Amino acid sequence: MDLLNALVDKGLRRELPTREEALAVLATSDDELLDVVAAAGKVRRQWFGRRVKLNYLVNLKSGLCPEDCSYCSQRLGSKAEILKYTWLKPDEASKAAAAGVAGGAKRVCLVASGRGPTDRDVDRVSETISAIKEQNEGVEVCACLGLLSDGQAGRLRSAGADAYNHNLNTSEATYGDICTTHDFSDRVSTVQQAQAAGMSACSGLIAGMGESDADLVDVVFALRELDPDSVPVNFLIPFEGTPLAKEWNLTPQRALRILAMVRFVCPDIEVRLAGGREVHLRTLQPLALHLVNSIFLGDYLTSEGQAGKDDLAMIEDAGFEVEGADTTTLPEHRRQHGDDGAEPAQTADAEADAEAPATTVPAPSDENRRDLVAVRRRGAGTDLPPNA
Ligand code: SF4
Repeated sequence: MDLLNALVDKGLRRELPTREEALAVLATSDDELLDVVAAAGKVRRQWFGRRVKLNYLVNLKSGLCPEDCSYCSQRLGSKAEILKYTWLKPDEASKAAAAGVAGGAKRVCLVASGRGPTDRDVDRVSETISAIKEQNEGVEVCACLGLLSDGQAGRLRSAGADAYNHNLNTSEATYGDICTTHDFSDRVSTVQQAQAAGMSACSGLIAGMGESDADLVDVVFALRELDPDSVPVNFLIPFEGTPLAKEWNLTPQRALRILAMVRFVCPDIEVRLAGGREVHLRTLQPLALHLVNSIFLGDYLTSEGQAGKDDLAMIEDAGFEVEGADTTTLPEHRRQHGDDGAEPAQTADAEADAEAPATTVPAPSDENRRDLVAVRRRGAGTDLPPNA
């Protein structure tokens, strides 16, 4: 297939595909699916071999958020019966993090619900980062605390945060449909503040919210322009009690096509398979390892993932290996980029493709797998051991 040959060539050269090519990946048929996975898999192996980086989520503060992000079970007015608790103490968070590290996680992601942290919150998180780093030598810590105010990124960096996560989630054009309490530009600004403070930027998307193919391509190109080091790809978990509870738009095949498109646009960036993989990829999860080089181990913020030991078995059975703490995730040229201003990957002229026709929203899948959505009842914020 000419499209796939062209995309592999570009991926191996770190050249950005055109929007038209990215849209064409999303438009491939199920008959072509394995060819698409094999092609994107070549690009993945070129830059990341068969390594899989494991990341572990610790929800420091759950629920009761004043923001109205419609996909989120922690939002204002959410009726989802999730765990609700205020800030974990540093030793509680450190204990949860240690379980993830013992399970093979290289990065711990410290997340808190809310619009953004107060300066007191930044102090709390700084203490937590110290506690985690003291007890887990070499662990990477990523903070995800919402929109940052002036100076907070620098304080987190000084406290030892290696990375900061803030997702763009969806295209700028449709951002107002999923959230009214902040906008797309607020999110872009926080990612840029994290980068300016010397933290590794992590920013991704959520697929399956009813967006068009063009929206998906737009958000992935917007991410590419921000040049984050990692891009988490979430698939909407349609929680009962949230406005998007009825949005069952994804099939395992579509989820794989989306991951392949992200890999082609972000050939040498850490692409992470994030929330919703068990719900939407189901038995096809191992195929996704040919596309992504990073996953979350165990549970998510408010929902349960498959058992951590099953994640490890899946990686081994599929012929991949867990990335060790002594290996640097990003390829050499990207490690330099950001430190010494080396040239980013070549970019194609986006103007030429700006008029590519928008494809329509795919028909909802009739396969509603509500039975696979399990609210988290263990780990951080409970007396039960974490899943790691
Ligand atoms: S995504 Fe973050 S800001 Fe938005 S409702 Fe959820 S916790 Fe609040």
